[in-house]
Amino acid sequence: MNLSSPSDFFQLHNGVNMPALGLGVYKSKDGQEVQQAIHWAIEAGYRHIDTAKIYGNERGVGEAIRNSTIPREELFVVSKVWNSDQGYDSTLKAFDTSLNLLGLEYMDLYLIHWPVKGKYLDTWGAMEKLYRSGKVRAIGVSNFMQHHLQDVITAGTIVPMVNQMEFHPRLVQQSLLEFCRNHQIQYEAWSPIMKGKVLDIPLLQELGDRYDKSPVQVTLKWALQKGVVVIPKSVNEHRIQANADLFDFELSADEMQQINALDRGERIGPDPDNFDF
Ligand code: NDP
Repeated sequence: MNLSSPSDFFQLHNGVNMPALGLGVYKSKDGQEVQQAIHWAIEAGYRHIDTAKIYGNERGVGEAIRNSTIPREELFVVSKVWNSDQGYDSTLKAFDTSLNLLGLEYMDLYLIHWPVKGKYLDTWGAMEKLYRSGKVRAIGVSNFMQHHLQDVITAGTIVPMVNQMEFHPRLVQQSLLEFCRNHQIQYEAWSPIMKGKVLDIPLLQELGDRYDKSPVQVTLKWALQKGVVVIPKSVNEHRIQANADLFDFELSADEMQQINALDRGERIGPDPDNFDF
């Protein structure tokens, strides 16, 4: 788990390498804003971009990827099927729409955004079909609790390669993390810095002072050392750079434990067992 640069990766169970640090683009405006953010991120060494149909910026994301001087195969592009598109045929269609908006030949990872009751197994069937077609290099899920994952594992023929979940020092979900580890499902953190709220946690400030790092950097490093992929969002050049400046310090086992102990099971986003959108 010794990562030494922003482009270092974890290997998925199908052998695909997923860069451990990515740029989140939820709420980044399509057009100039998202393109500029991706340009700065790539300059800072990021090789992974996390978008979704519902973010409404796939066109700008694709444009930034296509305009980049980095070869396409060195970049890792992720999108997600939105809730209203779930079901077998509609997922196949939604994927094509996203791929067209991105203007790319293939996606690196496609995720089911939320486990829509009564639909996510059919959606997963379509994900498997897309994977077998070669249009996407890996498939996975997001916001799937253990029982959702168990359903997919039982009904499907491919174990999801990734589960993207809310994850930060106030929400660890250790048993889900272990379930994923045991099934070789890569865990990935959304809102990894609690939308900036980790700045208010004194322990993270204290550890940051020790290493001349910010609470945000300590938090991202903690997640990476736990083997969790992180996708902090920013549209600010300085913060994009700072969020990738994580590879010149290492938290000790004791410091990792202290951060683990901040867990309160506290969500800042919706509960996957209780959402209505
Ligand atoms: P984050 O925890 O990444 O926080 C982003 C916020 O923090 C922004 O307001 C950003 O502002 C600010 N910020 C970024 N860097 C710093 C810094 N160094 N210091 C202080 N503030 C900072 O939240 P997100 O909810 O955006 O999650 C990250 C990504 O995860 C999303 O963009 C999206 O790709 C994905 N996601 C997935 C979900 C899912 O259901 N699968 C749900 C939610 C998110 P600024 O831009 O001005 O820098």
